[in-house]
Amino acid sequence: MGSPPARPPAAGRGGPPRPLISPASLQAAVARLGAELSAAYPDGVLLVGVLKGSVPFLADLVRHLGASASVDFLAISAYAENTGRVRLLKDLDTDVWGRDVVLVEDIVDTGLTATYVLGELRRRQPRSVEVCTLLDKAVRRLVPVPLRYVGFEIGDEFVVGYGMDFEEQYRNLDRIVAADLNTLRGDAAAYVGTLYRS
Ligand code: 5GP
Repeated sequence: MGSPPARPPAAGRGGPPRPLISPASLQAAVARLGAELSAAYPDGVLLVGVLKGSVPFLADLVRHLGASASVDFLAISAYAENTGRVRLLKDLDTDVWGRDVVLVEDIVDTGLTATYVLGELRRRQPRSVEVCTLLDKAVRRLVPVPLRYVGFEIGDEFVVGYGMDFEEQYRNLDRIVAADLNTLRGDAAAYVGTLYRS
């Protein structure tokens, strides 16, 4: 007989992916944020998403808004770690001058990305600009970001699903799970079998 199986490591620290936010909880948060935005912007708002992580969240969110809501996207390069230096890869199609704008983010972590994008938007003199993020990893913040609308605050863990990826995988999960980064670095597809089993 072999030795008894070792106690599984704590989820998120070398174990299997740990369920963090269910589809129902996500949709409830999106509905709440949609109601808040509808109340705040009765005359319409431009939602600006940062590609690609914000796409599922923004798509669900905008369906809670009225006819005068519009959508645009920008893309930026990843920054070299902790430098805050990013580059605009795809600009908006819309002129935001004089508009009410809400920057829609999947997750605000260090805050460097949101700070850069907010700077770009403010330079163009919108009437107002606020941030709506699905996830707020507040404990990791390096630069303060004014987050007006927040879905969930999470701890210092790496998450995938509902737009968030690891090497382009897991974006299309309908829920958010906490994953072990070392496992994913060893094999980006390590969780595919578990997470996509129906
Ligand atoms: P920042 O550190 O600038 O606030 O976040 C930069 C970007 O890092 C986010 O937009 C997101 O793409 C990515 N990021 C931060 N934390 C996580 C995480 O836990 N999971 C995934 N998949 N991406 C993250």
